[in-house]
Amino acid sequence: MAQKYEVDDTGEIEQFCIKVRKKYIELKDKENLNFLYAWRSELKLEGPRIIRGSVSKLPSRDRDLYGLDVRVEICAQSWEQMSNKEKAKLCYHELSHIEIEYPEVIDELSEEDKKPKTDNEGRVCFRLEHHNIFIGRFKAELKKFGLSEEEDALRKFLNKVNKKFKK
Ligand SMILES: [Zn+2]
Repeated sequence: MAQKYEVDDTGEIEQFCIKVRKKYIELKDKENLNFLYAWRSELKLEGPRIIRGSVSKLPSRDRDLYGLDVRVEICAQSWEQMSNKEKAKLCYHELSHIEIEYPEVIDELSEEDKKPKTDNEGRVCFRLEHHNIFIGRFKAELKKFGLSEEEDALRKFLNKVNKKFKK
């Protein structure tokens, strides 16, 4: 791969995204958006971790010109080494960053009648969400000072999740 970024014309990323979107109801409404799936050949790091994927909202001008709303970018090297289950998990993760916005009156409507909010030019309104679990700490710091109340609650939550998935 010579270029840093390439459109995924194999359709592989899309296949996985469609699969998880169909399987998990919480992702279903992402079908209201049009996606650009792309490979990134360069390794990017966030601290010690390889960034395996990312999502970004395309600028309004590009959304109008290309009819595409969101870019899903996947690290090609990481993808190659992943199992199908890991690929699906990564796609689930990336799609979870997208939060489609709905009009206020939505509560009275059934799931099927839910129509996303659109802006004055008719584009579907959505925003990108940050991760809702975050530990920005140093090992030495934790060893010295222990967990905060919030981190202890997180620990309990993680234990519970772990128990559920342990064979
Ligand atoms: Zn993420």
